[in-house]
Amino acid sequence: TELDATTADMIRRRSELLGPAYRLFYERPLHLVRGEGVWLYDPEGEAYLDAYNNVTSIGHCRPEVVDAIADQAATLATNTRYIHEAILEYAERLLATMPDEIGHMMFTCTGSDANDLAVRIAQSYTGGTGIVVTETAYHGITQSVSEFSPSLGENVDLGPHVRTVPAPDSYRMGDGMAQGFGDAVAAAFADLKRHGIKPALFICDGIFASDGVFDGPAGFLAQAVAATHAAGALYIADEVQSGFGRTGDAMWGFQRHDVRPDIVTMGKPMGNGYPVAGVAVRPDVIEEFGRKARYFNTFGGNAVAVRAAAAVLDVIQKEDLVENARKVGIYMRERMRGLQTEFPRIGDVRGAGLFIGVEMVADLETKTPDAALATAIVNGLREEKVLISGCAKAANVLKIRPPLVFTRDNADHFLAALERVLERTLK
Ligand code: PMP
Repeated sequence: TELDATTADMIRRRSELLGPAYRLFYERPLHLVRGEGVWLYDPEGEAYLDAYNNVTSIGHCRPEVVDAIADQAATLATNTRYIHEAILEYAERLLATMPDEIGHMMFTCTGSDANDLAVRIAQSYTGGTGIVVTETAYHGITQSVSEFSPSLGENVDLGPHVRTVPAPDSYRMGDGMAQGFGDAVAAAFADLKRHGIKPALFICDGIFASDGVFDGPAGFLAQAVAATHAAGALYIADEVQSGFGRTGDAMWGFQRHDVRPDIVTMGKPMGNGYPVAGVAVRPDVIEEFGRKARYFNTFGGNAVAVRAAAAVLDVIQKEDLVENARKVGIYMRERMRGLQTEFPRIGDVRGAGLFIGVEMVADLETKTPDAALATAIVNGLREEKVLISGCAKAANVLKIRPPLVFTRDNADHFLAALERVLERTLK
């Protein structure tokens, strides 16, 4: 696993040029030069199976998106201060996938930028500032959003107006989870009020990705959302990870839970790699904000971005990728559960659609997290030329998130590599 001289030199230049805040994946970092479909290629032309990058959810360098970007970039690239048909058509189509009461679509460039705007809207509507999030949530990088992104680590301060609740850990919590999670959200809002902080919002990611991929059971969010509304706060569904069909049952992760968000934020796979993100909102929630605060985002909703996004939506709908995510996801989880007898340190296999979490433990009885084992598997798979990563508070959950175009054959390729790595690592 020695680094070759070229790679070592690039890593040195990277840290010299980009500074100390960036992190690379893997003990042996990966240099990539090209992508196509579910495959990524290194400079030698070696192919890596991508089971991780949910931005390029309809496949790397998807021609339909590349063509839409090129065509629009060659025609007109302007902003939302001018009238343009593409943004209207796209907003109409996207809003049609949302619950009826969500009536407006606003555009940003990143998920962080979307959450930042959502918070401003929620704070303006409620007149409060209090925010409740899960313990290892990630919502983004702006100043205001990093203050409620505890997964950034203990060195990044949470805001004094932020309270965290334990993630809904289905592996450890059992039957009372829905009520317990709802009660925790209610208690967090009560605590904010007690400190003189008026509640503004509860935000959660539809699959609790950075918390460790907690998918369900479907419907379990209802109590938490009810507690949020009872506290006078809004429920923001962060669909940056779980949106656009990823969870396999519906277009949006929150739809698995049959809850009704006041604001929905989205990004990542929206443009299949082109930076486009957004906020969908109930008209009454944005009404006052809209009157007081003029909103303009130079690149948000530019004509090229919405053409890219429209091409992505076309492919998701035409190829029924939501259903593919559901089917292939079920198959992968079943096969991985089949490995648990032989490899009992696979404590839990969970997820929805093509968002899969595999929890590695030191011992099945105590369910003690084993981060070193998860890291060894992630690095082992990289040597097998299969890409995944890890997540969770204890960093012991394999995060498997292949493109939605992943086939059963791709899944078999992945599973064979995983089995080889488990054999090597555990036997
Ligand atoms: N919300 C969630 C749930 C995310 O996973 C991310 C990105 N990992 C963000 C927000 C922020 O998105 P971006 O990196 O585009 O700013």
